[in-house]
Amino acid sequence: MFGIMEATRLESLHVAQDPATGLQAIIALHSTRLGPALGGCRYLTYSDSHSAVADAARLAQSMSYKAALAGLPFGGGKAVILRPAHVPNRGALFEAFGRFIETLNGRYITAVDSGTKSEDMDCIAQYTQHVTSTRTAGDPSPHTAMGVFAGIRASAMARLGSDDLQGLRIAVQGLGQVGYALAEQLAAAGAELLVSDLDPGRALLAVEQLGAQAVQPAELAATPCDIFVPCGLGGVLDQATVAHLHCAVVAGAANNQLASPEVAELLEARGILYAPDYVINSGGLIYVALQHQGAELPAITAHLARIGQRLTDIYAQAQAQNRSPARVAAQQAEALLYPR
Ligand code: NAD
Repeated sequence: MFGIMEATRLESLHVAQDPATGLQAIIALHSTRLGPALGGCRYLTYSDSHSAVADAARLAQSMSYKAALAGLPFGGGKAVILRPAHVPNRGALFEAFGRFIETLNGRYITAVDSGTKSEDMDCIAQYTQHVTSTRTAGDPSPHTAMGVFAGIRASAMARLGSDDLQGLRIAVQGLGQVGYALAEQLAAAGAELLVSDLDPGRALLAVEQLGAQAVQPAELAATPCDIFVPCGLGGVLDQATVAHLHCAVVAGAANNQLASPEVAELLEARGILYAPDYVINSGGLIYVALQHQGAELPAITAHLARIGQRLTDIYAQAQAQNRSPARVAAQQAEALLYPR
C-alpha cells in the first residue's frame, strides 16, 4: 500500500466499511494543494483490495494533473467502491458512502465514474454537499466528448496540417457515454468512422445511425486509420498494441491510456502523435468543477474550448524541446503541483 502511495505521491488514503449496507470504499486524495480533491467514484468488481487501491491511487494522480493543467482551483482524488456480489439496497450503500465523504470535511468532492450514475450521486447528496453530477447537475459525459472533439481537431492540425476532419478515417474504440457522443460529432464533421465496442449492440447502433463501419474489438487498434480514439477503459496502449498501430494520431477520452509512462516514448519513436489523456479528456472535469462553483453554461463552454489550444501549446513545446507531449504535459502539471 505504501509502495503505491509513494509511487504516485499520494497525499492520503481513506478506507471505510459499513457491514449493514455492504459498503467497502477507498478514497485516494492525491493532492489538495490547489484546492479540494475532485474526482469520480468507481463502482466496480476488483480481484482484491490491493488492485482497488492501485486503481484509485493512479486515477487520483491523473485527476490532480488534469485539474492543474485545466487551470482549475481543485486538487485530484478518486474513490473506489468495491462492488459486492449481492447488493440488497444500492441506495443505502451510496448513502453510507455519502456519510464517509462527509467525514473528510470537504477535502474530497465526488462525481460519477465507471459504474456509477447520477441517481447514486443523489443518494450521496442526502448526506453531504461535496458531490457533483447529481440528476439536477447533469451528466459530464457530453462535455468530455466536446473537449475530446476539440482536442482531435487540434491534434489533426498539428500532425496532418489541417483541422478539417472531412474524409479522415477515425477509429473510435468504445461507444459508451463519451464515445458515442463523440462519434456523433465526428460523423457530423464528415469523418469516415470505424467503431468497436465489447457490446455489439452499441457498434450496430453506430452503423445504423452514423454510417460507421463496425470492426471486431480485438482488431480495431491495428486497423489502418488516420486517428485512433480510445474511449473504453485504461491501459489500452502497451508495447504490443503500439507495435501494431497504423495511425498518425492517438487522441481519445479514456483515462490512463498508457499501460506505463514509457509507452509515450514508443509512440514517439513510431512517429505517432499522442494527446495526453488528462489534457484531452478534461471537459467533464471542467464541467463539474465550474458547475459546482456556480458557473453558467457559457462560461463553462468557453473554458472547454481552450482544450484545443492547450494541446496545441503542448505539441509546440514538445517539438521545440524534442520531448514527447506526455512528458511535457507531466512536467507542466508537476511544476504547478510541486513548485520549488
Ligand atoms: P462507459 O462505461 O459509458 O463506456 C465505455 C464503453 O467502452 C462501453 O460501451 C464498453 O463496452 C466499451 N469498451 C470497453 N473496453 C473496450 C474495448 N477494449 N474495445 C471496445 N469497446 C470497449 O464509459 P464512458 O463514461 O464513456 O468513459 C469512457 C472512458 O473515458 C473511460 O476510460 C473513462 O474513465 C474516461 N472518461 C470519461 C469521462 C466522462 O465524462 N464520462 C471523463 C473523462 C474520462
